[in-house]
Amino acid sequence: MGMLGHQSGRRGIRGLAGAVIAIFLLCGFAPFAHGAVDSLKIGAPLCYVVTPEDPGAEMPSPADYRCHGRPRGYQAGTLWLHMPVQARSAGDDLALLVHLTRFDRLTIFSTYADGAVRTFGVARGDFGTHWRDGGQIVFRLPDRDVPVASLTMRFDRLASHDLLRARLMPGSEADREGTLVGPLIGGALTLLLLGTIYNLSLAHGVRRQFIAWHGAWAACVFIWGLIWSQLALLVVPGIAGTLSSQICTFLSTLAIACATASAVTSLERSLLPRALRIGVLLLGAAVALVGLPAAFAVGPAIEPIGQILGVLIIADLLAVTAAIVTAWRRGSVEARDFALAWAVPMATLGATQLLDLNDRLLGGGAQIAVLMASAFQTIWLSFAITRRLARLRIERDAAQAAQAELDELARRDSLTGLLNRRGFIAAAGEALALAERENIAFGLLLIDVDRFKAVNDHFGHDVGDRVLRRIADRLRQWEGDICTAGRLGGEEFVLIVRGLAGRPLAEFADRVRIGIAGQGYDGLLPADMPVTVSIGLADTGAATSFPLLYRLADEALYEAKRGGRNRVVIHASGRTALPPRPARRA
Ligand code: GH3
Ligand code: MG
Ligand code: MG
Repeated sequence: MGMLGHQSGRRGIRGLAGAVIAIFLLCGFAPFAHGAVDSLKIGAPLCYVVTPEDPGAEMPSPADYRCHGRPRGYQAGTLWLHMPVQARSAGDDLALLVHLTRFDRLTIFSTYADGAVRTFGVARGDFGTHWRDGGQIVFRLPDRDVPVASLTMRFDRLASHDLLRARLMPGSEADREGTLVGPLIGGALTLLLLGTIYNLSLAHGVRRQFIAWHGAWAACVFIWGLIWSQLALLVVPGIAGTLSSQICTFLSTLAIACATASAVTSLERSLLPRALRIGVLLLGAAVALVGLPAAFAVGPAIEPIGQILGVLIIADLLAVTAAIVTAWRRGSVEARDFALAWAVPMATLGATQLLDLNDRLLGGGAQIAVLMASAFQTIWLSFAITRRLARLRIERDAAQAAQAELDELARRDSLTGLLNRRGFIAAAGEALALAERENIAFGLLLIDVDRFKAVNDHFGHDVGDRVLRRIADRLRQWEGDICTAGRLGGEEFVLIVRGLAGRPLAEFADRVRIGIAGQGYDGLLPADMPVTVSIGLADTGAATSFPLLYRLADEALYEAKRGGRNRVVIHASGRTALPPRPARRA
């Protein structure tokens, strides 16, 4: 027990160390992507002005912009964001990256030092060639002989400027990010897809609820990742913008609900207080429920709903942690194995709620962290489940083998190793059924040692036992295709014989009698004390029921005893007694 606790503790620590390393690896992207990048926020250095929506509106003049406070009323109108661009050398290619948010239309104006203005735009449902995997829209500001002096972004019907993220960086930096982000997202999505297929088919195969929930979770994260990263736009470009973002919001809450259900249903019911179990499941369901209005809310309502959702998610994480810790402390194997797998995405999700990762991680921010952690979790949990099922299978095979051994032992007599009464009756039943089907003759020999009590009385019970074992050894030599032997109890043995009837059967019975008498009992009994047996033979010609055969053989045996012992009496249509012959010693 102590040993077990020690080992599981060590494994736990190793798993935890793995989780921590994974989180550090994820966060490792942070400094790496941050060199020459300017994150653009209101006040630093963006200034804003809100105007009513008017497609033909001119760019506001610089004097109209405010650089502090929060813009209001833009959700139903137009939010203009403006910033001067620090002089860079002419020919220095710039890229503006806007992270996906909900808006109807975005227009970028880049104003050059000579007063020239270049305009680019994307609209809801049409991001053209500006989308990039990693959930970003990229605008390459054209390379002219004069540098860019200022940038203006015009958002029509933006859902929330809090969700807005934009970065300005050298074009080469943006390219480098792009070549790193693509394979990372592709890899994570591939792992999630494999995890989905594997877990759903496994759940179907082994009928375990929590594996199905895990598969559903992986599926949600996979589809979420496809849409968030914008790879889905390759197939359905029309969902670009608000619709994608809405689907993503809902999918992410659905994923949390599935993850909660998977984690809780993986724990043994008996180890989790019912109230805790139901409470956690309800919290998970509440996250998905609030996910719906959060996804489809428009206008200012999005902010309070977002806050409620944030609180629910943190509460859900804490509740799942409490459930796992409770089950773990009560000795749950699942909790130990699976908790560590959940720790990584849970810690990442928690971190994204508490830390501002937004401009980090190659511009993928919190989302890429969650995607990578989820891919990691799916693979880990799939391994853990597979290992656990394999172990269960091995245990089951061992238990089945042990059971088969016990069954065999229960059929055998411990003194002689022959079939005991129970085992023999079962074997005789099968043999009789077979003989009946194949219309084979069937005979039963009931063999009783003559005056065996005297052996015990003179030489002791131990010698008596050894004599019984030798008789059994001799009987075993006849066992095979046509004969099955057993010990019905005491000094009474039995043989069934298939395929013999009439005279050949009677002769065989007599050979058995002579064979037992002729078995050497040297070292056990003196030469003047032969071991003889009386045999009652039931020969019905055709197969009949075992109780009937037994009764006939028993009657014949009684006759054999009465007739003087050491003989075979046949109970057949005509009763015959083979005359006793002297038993020759081997
Ligand atoms: P009979 O010729 O009429 O069959 O005489 P018998 O002495 O063999 O018959 P009886 O039924 O009077 O006694 C059977 C003896 O078998 C009594 C019992 O001590 C002995 N016996 C039964 N089972 C065992 C056993 O497992 N080991 C030994 N050593 N003796 C046993
Ligand atoms: Mg006897
Ligand atoms: Mg007896």
